Amino acid sequence: MFPGIETGTFPPATSTIVSGPTEAVLIDAQYLKDDVRDLGDLIERTGKTLTTIYVTHAHQDHYLGIGPLKERFPEAKCVALPHIVEAIKETRHEHAELWEQMFGDSSVADGALPDPIEGDTFYVDGSPLKIIEVKQADISPTTIVHIPAIDAVVAGDAVYNEIHPMLGLSTPDEWQDWLETVDLVEKLNPRMIVAGHRRPDGDDYAVETMIAQTRAYIQQFAAAYEVAKDAEDLIAIMTEKFPYHGQVWTLWFSAFNTFELRNANSSEAEPVR
Ligand SMILES: [Zn+2]
Repeated sequence: MFPGIETGTFPPATSTIVSGPTEAVLIDAQYLKDDVRDLGDLIERTGKTLTTIYVTHAHQDHYLGIGPLKERFPEAKCVALPHIVEAIKETRHEHAELWEQMFGDSSVADGALPDPIEGDTFYVDGSPLKIIEVKQADISPTTIVHIPAIDAVVAGDAVYNEIHPMLGLSTPDEWQDWLETVDLVEKLNPRMIVAGHRRPDGDDYAVETMIAQTRAYIQQFAAAYEVAKDAEDLIAIMTEKFPYHGQVWTLWFSAFNTFELRNANSSEAEPVR
């Protein structure tokens, strides 16, 4: 899974609490035991009733925390789109093994599942949060959440905020689909975007920069992939273009994984000659 890389780091991941006069909802649920406990404390301190926990996509850093949070807030519904629930079921065992290797006991154990949501909207005190399924982000299927009342988009892993985007789990064609997703977020014209991964001091209101950088990063990674000799070369090109992005390990992963894929494809083609 991590060719050529023995140890790694993981990017800071966001969770979003949206609150109204009496209710609160949570989008994405963290994964480390301590962080999930702190997140629960934060929800409690709002003094609002947590009604819904929503999961954007089938990656552990976004859903593992639902187990302890469901126990702590039993009145809250925990939901995701039906095929996102299916995607979690399909990948959870493989992911759990990997997670165990990476985080050991610090991580919440795999177990809880969101329920399939009916429709594409949930509410906080009657105000809608619209789920939009997008074609591609770091994986597919995946979603973002648009909150019209406050002109906000909670972007899951469709938009990154000064963190190297995870391109190593998708193909060059899918990177083009991801660019369409970035266009879609831009068309919503939000005042605020909460990226799934950002620096702890990142600015959620730096909308234009986030859109421009995510778009440029995907385009330049795709272009560099075409000309790079190998993974190291691709890493060198991208770190020169984005020297201030955090979480370089994700770039390493993306570079090595895409070259693995390219090499696997070309060796498959060999016997045809
Ligand atoms: Zn993520």
